[in-house]
Amino acid sequence: MGTEVSVYFWHEDEAEGNAVIEEIFAEVDRINALMSTYVDDSRISDINRRAADEPVAAGEELFQLIRRSLDISVLTRGAFDITYDSVGQYYDFRERRRPDDATVEAEREHINFHYVKLDQGKGTVRFDEPGVRINLGGIAKGYVVERGVDILRRHGVQYGVVTAGGDSRLLGDRRGRPWMIGIRDPREDGEVAISVPLEDEAISTSGDYERYFDEDGKRYHHIIKPSSGRPVEGIHSATVIGPDAVMTDALSTSVFVMGVDEGLKLIGCLPDYEAIVIDAQGEIFYSTGLADPGSDGDDAPLSTVPPEICDGAQP
Ligand code: ADP
Ligand code: MG
Repeated sequence: MGTEVSVYFWHEDEAEGNAVIEEIFAEVDRINALMSTYVDDSRISDINRRAADEPVAAGEELFQLIRRSLDISVLTRGAFDITYDSVGQYYDFRERRRPDDATVEAEREHINFHYVKLDQGKGTVRFDEPGVRINLGGIAKGYVVERGVDILRRHGVQYGVVTAGGDSRLLGDRRGRPWMIGIRDPREDGEVAISVPLEDEAISTSGDYERYFDEDGKRYHHIIKPSSGRPVEGIHSATVIGPDAVMTDALSTSVFVMGVDEGLKLIGCLPDYEAIVIDAQGEIFYSTGLADPGSDGDDAPLSTVPPEICDGAQP
């Protein structure tokens, strides 16, 4: 996954508890081996190699996650787009490597989720043209933490949390008190900007501080605006809270791409989801369902979204 995964829960029996941990980490490895583009013999790497030439069988699980990704592309009008990887593949943040302008201009032509064709009956994926690539980096960690919590539930665990990078899924509360989840200060390492009390929900944060390097005063980071093929500007982090971690993961990436206004409008259309956005000036914005905890209510968040804007916005 290229990220840290952690599990936290209560169990009466130490040996059984340890077995649950093992099972969760085996599941993380299994998903990584299936869905990582950094693994040469993963199913997704096979799809990226061959799907422009012929339909490639994805297997039920991967097929469903690709299908959900494409649905979220429709919901977000293309802000979330797993084909960002035709440009994304040229970044190596550890090596401070990025695509040059000519490469970005040439490769961004291949960013368009409409180029990905699914055959539900056959369970295959096909690309409309060569050069298209997909990468589930914006949604797979949410899937991992949902699967992790499923394992906890299956073993009768009532209180727990599974975290992968910026994505957490909470099971129950913290034995009678809510979990307090900190949202990082995007520019102060180790500092928390806001803490949110939560129970039985998922929370995902996308930030420009996760994978990046700075060059000539400009930050090159891992969230790509599909229309430009370049890292999104004007925003430091986007957090989404809601019932399902697959959705909060993909939506946090989407809100990051869409920016404060568009992003919060979208969230306003999804009754179960809320968002907290920190822009490039460090200003914090909340979706309609969240009151600003630091204010007495005068400082109202964005007004209610008119229904026509929500047409077609169904999670
Ligand atoms: P993280 O938890 O690593 O911060 P995010 O949920 O913010 O992850 O997703 C960022 C990842 O999503 C990137 O590392 C990349 O793999 C992928 N990605 C980047 N831009 C887009 C995009 N426009 N649509 C979908 N996925 C994207
Ligand atoms: Mg995300």
